Amino acid sequence: MLRINHRLLNMACVREQVTRAASSFFEKPLNFVDGVRVDASQPTHSFVVEEPATGKQLCKCPSSGQEDVNKAVQSAREAFKSWSQLSGLERGRLLQKAALKLRERQEEFARMESVDQGKPLWESRFDIETVIDGLEYFAGLAPSITGDHLPLQGGSFGIVKREPLGVCVGIGPWNYPVQMAGWKSAPALACGNTMVYKPSQFTPITTVMLAELYIEVGIPKGVFNVVQGKGETGRFLTCHPGVDKVSFTGSVPTGKKVMADCALGIKHVTLELGGKSPLLIFADADMENAVKGAMMANFLTQGEVCCNGTRVFVERSIKDEFVEKLVSKTKGMKIGDPTKDGTMMGAVISKEHKEKVLNYVQGAKEQGAKVLCGGESFTPDDPALSGGYYMTPCILDQVEDHMTVAKEEIFGPVLSLFTFDTEEEAVRRANDSEFGLAAGVFTNDLKRAHRLSAQLEAGYVWVNNFNLNPVGLPFGGFKQSGIGRENAAATITQFTQQKSVYFEMGDVDCPY
Ligand code: NAD
Repeated sequence: MLRINHRLLNMACVREQVTRAASSFFEKPLNFVDGVRVDASQPTHSFVVEEPATGKQLCKCPSSGQEDVNKAVQSAREAFKSWSQLSGLERGRLLQKAALKLRERQEEFARMESVDQGKPLWESRFDIETVIDGLEYFAGLAPSITGDHLPLQGGSFGIVKREPLGVCVGIGPWNYPVQMAGWKSAPALACGNTMVYKPSQFTPITTVMLAELYIEVGIPKGVFNVVQGKGETGRFLTCHPGVDKVSFTGSVPTGKKVMADCALGIKHVTLELGGKSPLLIFADADMENAVKGAMMANFLTQGEVCCNGTRVFVERSIKDEFVEKLVSKTKGMKIGDPTKDGTMMGAVISKEHKEKVLNYVQGAKEQGAKVLCGGESFTPDDPALSGGYYMTPCILDQVEDHMTVAKEEIFGPVLSLFTFDTEEEAVRRANDSEFGLAAGVFTNDLKRAHRLSAQLEAGYVWVNNFNLNPVGLPFGGFKQSGIGRENAAATITQFTQQKSVYFEMGDVDCPY
């Protein structure tokens, strides 16, 4: 009994620290404009931010109105005048400093991300690592953003300049809050743009921390502003005449609205949207790696990952062995407090979302699928977590291609199993989707890997692994999964525009 009490006491201590840090953060407002945290002056309404791990209210946040958005855009416009005039080397140095500072404060950021998002601490640490990578990468590229020279007749010549776009807007989802803010701001700022960022209303914290960190390392005020709010605030941004580009990450339905709003102002737009990615496991694959790969493809961030390989196609001859190993490992996953080391899966983002995911499982059962494990609500032992949004990771078998769980993005820890007999069949069924974000193949046949990476209709294909996104490999979707690429050199082209300048060295040759 004494031992159990001690264990609970320890848990309480960690929770208390985490809760204290979070509540002191909310003492100041969460909009960040012109280098300081400011109250929304004309909020349209407020929304409640909850901690997914406990279900408790973290804060009530005003949703920014038109006037707040005007101020943030105006501040970014003003900052653009001098930020865009720095050399790439100078901007790169500041981004490099931000990377170093973020590494120093990695643990603090990771804890807050786990509080805000519900994902386990080890994943939050990893997410921060990817932001550091992005800052270092784009800091390095900044001085090399140059143009071209074109020699012409009689000594005349042209130059092609690569110029920043101006004020860019970033709009983020709730599954990778700080990673998305980093992935969008690092290239935007490296190119000489300024940015106004709206995080998801579910996860407002770490973007503000990033904005404060940018100021701390000397990035001028106004270069990166943050406005909080729901979709309405997002629309104030996408429709704003002072905005030159929108980089959006979120669902397909919202992406369509964002694109339509951008069309009204002919704004540049990048869309990183949802997915329903296939993972193909062939009989010649390394079995242990294939099982681990399927778990990596489905259970990171409680399954709330856009590129997850939720449709797992397994070659018939190895299906039984694969499924047995997969189910056994999945049942061993430790679910619980995201802020504790050792937790493998945390809490899904909200009560409503948990219900939505559980309903997908119920619907699959009604359509004839078989639950091999999980798919149920879960309550951790720690009483402090009793109000949190936990569920067990689910594996569905006997799923058919026409079922709802095979077609729609569930965005939760639900893996669907399919069986195939031939490579041609596997590819055809894998490509039968309106999405095209990612795909995976486990095989030891090099020629097959090459063949399939060409045939799969996806912006990102993993061979013998899944869900790793090293900076430098462009990330983005085919089909309805989006337009544009992030996290790579290609992103530079999406945060700049070319300007051609013709220099005449002779006389004007004119027939008039
Ligand atoms: P969502 O589309 O509901 O919201 C995304 C963001 O858009 C939020 O900040 C929201 O407030 C804002 N928004 C809502 N309506 C808007 C409007 N009309 N105009 C402007 N902004 C508006 O998505 P979500 O539920 O936050 O995130 C989950 C989705 O994001 C999933 O579909 C997932 O696949 C996708 N996602 C994609 C990627 C990628 O890189 N492709 C990465 C992460 C998440």
